[in-house]
Amino acid sequence: DTNEMEIQFDSKSCNEGFARVAVAAFLTQMNPTVEEVADVKTAVSEAVTNAIIHGYEKRKGKIRIFCRILENQFFMEVSDKGKGILNVEEAMQPMYTTKPEEDRSGMGFAFMEAFMDEVKVKSEPEKGTCVRMKK
Ligand code: ATP
Ligand code: MG
Repeated sequence: DTNEMEIQFDSKSCNEGFARVAVAAFLTQMNPTVEEVADVKTAVSEAVTNAIIHGYEKRKGKIRIFCRILENQFFMEVSDKGKGILNVEEAMQPMYTTKPEEDRSGMGFAFMEAFMDEVKVKSEPEKGTCVRMKK
């Protein structure tokens, strides 16, 4: 039987911890290992941070997280309605960042790909970004 949850919150960095803990709490019913929980938390952090600092930059907007558990498969979607990404393939390259002056290392997507089994990004300039991940 499938189980789904959805949360939405403002693009403020104080909500990063909330998002991490909310997703981890939902994940608990799958009886995940400590490592699996840590991996998913890292992926949530990276995706939410990206939505805040790149998607909305200084503006305030809504970030939505949708999660689904089905037959020991965990699916998560983090989406924003921010500025979007012009070239997703390029953005996902390790060490690619558009904010080097803000001490960004361009490793967010690389971490998501390393810690999750599958990462897919859909984005449209001026419309927003949706990151879909499986574990
Ligand atoms: P780090 O994650 O290491 O702090 P970073 O955020 O720049 O650095 P990634 O997370 O890999 O690196 O993202 C790469 C680039 O993709 C970003 O610099 C940004 O240009 C773009 N990007 C990522 N997520 C979004 C988003 N939600 N909206 C708009 N642009 C994004
Ligand atoms: Mg990042």
